Amino acid sequence: MTRKTYETIIIGAGISGLACARSLQEKDRDFLIIGEDVGGRILTSADGSANYGAFFVCSDYHHLLQYVKIKSRIKLSNFCFHEEKKTYVFFEPKLIKYSVQFVKALKLLYKFRKAFHKFRKNSEIISQKNAIENDPFLYELYMQNAPDFVKKQKIQKGTDTYLSKALYSTTFSMINEMNAFSFLQFLLPMITPIYTFTFEKEKMIQPFQEKMICGYVDDVIYKNGQHKVKADGNTFYADNIVLATQIDWSKHFAGVKKTNKPASTNMLHVKGVPKSIVARKEYQLFAPPSNVQAMANLKDGTYLFYYRYERPSLENFFKDPHIIAHKYWNPAGTINGHALIECNRGNNMYLIGDFNVCGLEESYITGIYAANQIINSG
Ligand SMILES: Cc1cc2nc3c(=O)[nH]c(=O)nc-3n(C[C@H](O)[C@H](O)[C@H](O)COP(=O)(O)OP(=O)(O)OC[C@H]3O[C@@H](n4cnc5c(N)ncnc54)[C@H](O)[C@@H]3O)c2cc1C
Repeated sequence: MTRKTYETIIIGAGISGLACARSLQEKDRDFLIIGEDVGGRILTSADGSANYGAFFVCSDYHHLLQYVKIKSRIKLSNFCFHEEKKTYVFFEPKLIKYSVQFVKALKLLYKFRKAFHKFRKNSEIISQKNAIENDPFLYELYMQNAPDFVKKQKIQKGTDTYLSKALYSTTFSMINEMNAFSFLQFLLPMITPIYTFTFEKEKMIQPFQEKMICGYVDDVIYKNGQHKVKADGNTFYADNIVLATQIDWSKHFAGVKKTNKPASTNMLHVKGVPKSIVARKEYQLFAPPSNVQAMANLKDGTYLFYYRYERPSLENFFKDPHIIAHKYWNPAGTINGHALIECNRGNNMYLIGDFNVCGLEESYITGIYAANQIINSG
């Protein structure tokens, strides 16, 4: 019996693996995608009403937007900041004190967004590492610590009061853990509309559903010019391998030594009546070193509640809280550090995902990059 050798095996069916599959399918290429689940960090509650992982999409997520249904706009005016016992909203008289810094931050963001869009386009055909290294502005940001950048740009007070708190809730990281690239990337929602969404998983996978199998890969071995993949007692062979798994798993097979540090969070889906401290606005953003990071009102009497370490007493925030679900995300993203990892690992192995730049659209584009490399190589 002759052994089937796939042109490509993709391991992992999160958004990066799915994007790679979709791009290969469009060119009618031969592949198999093996994943433990479909969607990865895009995880929906059993009834489909809540996103337990990725929460929002930006209006410039051009690739991803084809596969999501937009729900509602998240506005800055819907944010409430919490700092120890104080609470305040975004647009209030206090903001005037920081208006010069605010305008400076906006200017930096517009400059960053222009370079970032160019980077996105470039990284469809060259690796993310090369695309960043080829742009001196982006490279310098990536190699700089966010606090140094903030100090140099003289936007420290406004950052401490507003921006670092917003970032703690969206990146689950403290600003002193971030590089300047991530700092600006995750502030882009200040100038780019963002929306809650539903992932249209079926629409995305429908064209290649028969090329997907559910399974856990235990081993990847390269021998005699081919990749051997072991999953749940079965063995598969391929000329190209795409590792679309979280970097802490992939790095072993891809020979990667240094990675960025993971940011993690616990997510609780809670049903309850909010106490007045958190009833003021739809989105509650907490300041470091608070263990509680964020809270989102889903408007159906349920809330998403994020915290870092030990589970806090929910009674401080709700009357009669009831936990519907818990999920520990580690990593939620790998965004803290200066390690730029090459996607093309040689021997027809490609490493994709959010290890250099976190986010749904960025992960999607790494999938396009790997597919382009495979398509153009033969
Ligand atoms: C709580 C949270 C909130 C977020 N919010 C946002 C947001 O609002 N907007 C945004 O743009 N981004 C957000 N992100 C980040 C975004 O979700 C990720 O950057 C993106 O989904 C990463 O996609 P990926 O394909 O690289 O990895 P993943 O989605 O993690 O996919 C990897 C897949 O590989 C599978 N896998 C792992 N090991 C194996 C194995 N051995 N065998 C088989 N399969 C395996 C996993 O099960 C998983 O399905 C958030 C993330 C989290 C956790």
